[in-house]
Formats: sequence, C-alpha cells, structure tokens
Amino acid sequence: MSNTRETILENLFGELNNQMFERRLSMVSVEFSERMTSAAGRYFPQRKLIRLSAPYLRLHGWDKCRNTLIHEMIHADLHVRRKPYGHTPEFKHWLKKLTGEKSIYHHDDMRPYDRPYRHVYTCPRGHKYYRKNRTRRKTSCGQCDKTYNPRYLLKYIGRENV
Ligand SMILES: [Zn+2]
Ligand SMILES: [Zn+2]
Repeated sequence: MSNTRETILENLFGELNNQMFERRLSMVSVEFSERMTSAAGRYFPQRKLIRLSAPYLRLHGWDKCRNTLIHEMIHADLHVRRKPYGHTPEFKHWLKKLTGEKSIYHHDDMRPYDRPYRHVYTCPRGHKYYRKNRTRRKTSCGQCDKTYNPRYLLKYIGRENV
C-alpha cells in the first residue's frame, strides 16, 4: 500500500472510527480538497462526506489535521445519531474530551491564506487607511472630521503588501 496522503487519511479515519466512535461512521467518507482554503475541514451531511483542506495539511501537518478530522467526525457522529449536529453544547463536550480543544472555529490558523496585501485609502490631507476589502461606499476621514464630511473624502490609492 502506498503512503499517499489519501491512504494515511483513510487509515487515520478508520482508527479513530474504531477507537472513538465505536465504528458508527463506517458509511462516512473522507477526502482532501486542494481548493479548500477558507476552512480546515467541513462535514457535508447530505453526502455523509468529510472534506479536509490539503493546504491546511501542508501548513500544519498531521497533528493539527487529526484534530480537524476528529472535529468533523463529531459533527458526522451527531448527525448519524440523529442529533443536532452543529456546534451544540454536546458537540463542544465531545470536542473537549476527544481533542482537548475548546475552540470550535473551522478556519483556525488559515490566516496565511488571507490576502497578502491591504487596500490603501487616503484623505486630501494625507491620512492613510488600510482595508482588507475594497469598499464602494463613500467615506470621509475620521481624523479630519468626526462626522461625515465630503471635503475629506477618502480616495483609493492602491494596494500595499503586508
Ligand atoms: Zn464544526
Ligand atoms: Zn484626514
């Protein structure tokens, strides 16, 4: 058997299913996605599918990925047992018990995939503002005037790397 990440994932899933979930998740499938960059993992209830982020694996390794897998398996397990399967108190109880984690965020540590630049705006008097996203809304400089003042409209000047 080859040691592709898919094989490792299948084996890990099988082990965890035996050790932690009493084989209740045998009908659930697992896969990696190269395109998943906004979250470390996700469970799709209709398809009984757990999808993990391949970029997340490269960035953080199997230890972190294992916890993400357990996180998604808890969603799947609650679903299979016909319980509410969101981030419920029961979900958090199991997450803490099985991974030691308290945080329920799926997008933990995905920050390197944030855009590497900020949009820069400036007012007529030279105050600078940095935004993650471009805005079409007209905004005036809060340092020149605390209320909206069209004399101090912010003008877009471009991107700056961070
Ligand atoms: Zn979750
Ligand atoms: Zn200003």
